Amino acid sequence: MPITIKDVKTILIQPLESDYQPTTHIIVKVITSEPGLYGIGCATFTQRFHAVKTAIDEHLTPLVIGRDVSRIEDIFQMSMVNSYWRNGPVLNNAISGIDQALWDIKGKMAGMPVYDLLGGKCREAAACYSHAGGDTKEACLESVQEKMAAGYSHVRVQMGGYGGKAEVLKKTENAQDGAYYNPKEYMRRHVEMFHYLRENLGFEVELLHDIHERLSPIDTINYAKDLEDVKLFFLEDALAPEDIAWFRQLRNQCATPLSMGELFNNPLEWRTLVQERLIDFMRMHVSQMGGISPARHAVSFAQAYNVRTAWHGPPDTSAVGHAANLHLDLWAPNFGIQEWCEFPELIYEMFPGLPEVRDGYMYANDKPGLGIDINEELAAKYPAEKNYEIKWTQTRLPDGSLARP
Ligand code: MG
Repeated sequence: MPITIKDVKTILIQPLESDYQPTTHIIVKVITSEPGLYGIGCATFTQRFHAVKTAIDEHLTPLVIGRDVSRIEDIFQMSMVNSYWRNGPVLNNAISGIDQALWDIKGKMAGMPVYDLLGGKCREAAACYSHAGGDTKEACLESVQEKMAAGYSHVRVQMGGYGGKAEVLKKTENAQDGAYYNPKEYMRRHVEMFHYLRENLGFEVELLHDIHERLSPIDTINYAKDLEDVKLFFLEDALAPEDIAWFRQLRNQCATPLSMGELFNNPLEWRTLVQERLIDFMRMHVSQMGGISPARHAVSFAQAYNVRTAWHGPPDTSAVGHAANLHLDLWAPNFGIQEWCEFPELIYEMFPGLPEVRDGYMYANDKPGLGIDINEELAAKYPAEKNYEIKWTQTRLPDGSLARP
């Protein structure tokens, strides 16, 4: 008798508060017909969490109940096509939660960590980068130095948040609320800041930067060229997904390494970028692409073109999602770097087995499956009760028109 899926539980938690909104994490628990055997996965789409919960509870759960837990690939493929319309946010997140939980279950059944199921370790630990920033170049320098003192050799730097906080920002009359920024000022101030960092730090520390798709394509090309002698480890989201054809022009003019992918939902979005060697790092959000199964396919595809991985690892990836990233990192022959957001102690208590970062490297604990569990009693104290309007994605240019966030 095969072990089958008995039930699926969707757990919404709001354990983190930032200055602008709570962050909702979505954890999926797949319970099997074998007493005590279950797996957990990350289905987080923090901006639309109710929609993901409904997709899991009302659509996917009835579809997967009774199915053989060992058939991960078949359940993934079937979940993608069963809705006919596919490869979109919400459904991809829902599918990811179940997919990751099934890999966790398979590891527990085999008595092996997921990285062993994938093919075994290619490295002992995953090099991570952490986030530094401040409102001035001096504050950015201090912040990078703090990260270096904590052991990081790779640091992402943003001055004044995404798009930069404009020192002088002339708005129109009757301007609507929003996260305003001035693209030209952002470019000027950041080029100056990065040169200041290099003058003070030298070139040994690897610096990264995220444009967050906030520039027009031709401004991006100029900006990437101006940053060329700063020698970034990579420049992230240089263009919006809608503008990816511009990567050809950017690539032809500039040797700044490029990373892209956290907003992608459909394999068609990254395939051409990899095949034409237009990016150096693909950094999809593993729960946004559908889980470990499609990520594994993407790794092997990218390896054929010598493109490396840099999975998205922000605070709106749950602890379980970070564990899934790490198992892919330890196995993938073409691993590049892992983004890491430094969770507070509460998250370590809520998710025993959450990977630890020491001296800039993330380590797995070598337990079977994903090696992470959820303390449901503690999680229940942080329920996702609050609904909130997402402010930071209401990004505007000085004249008041909306920009991509
Ligand atoms: Mg990013």
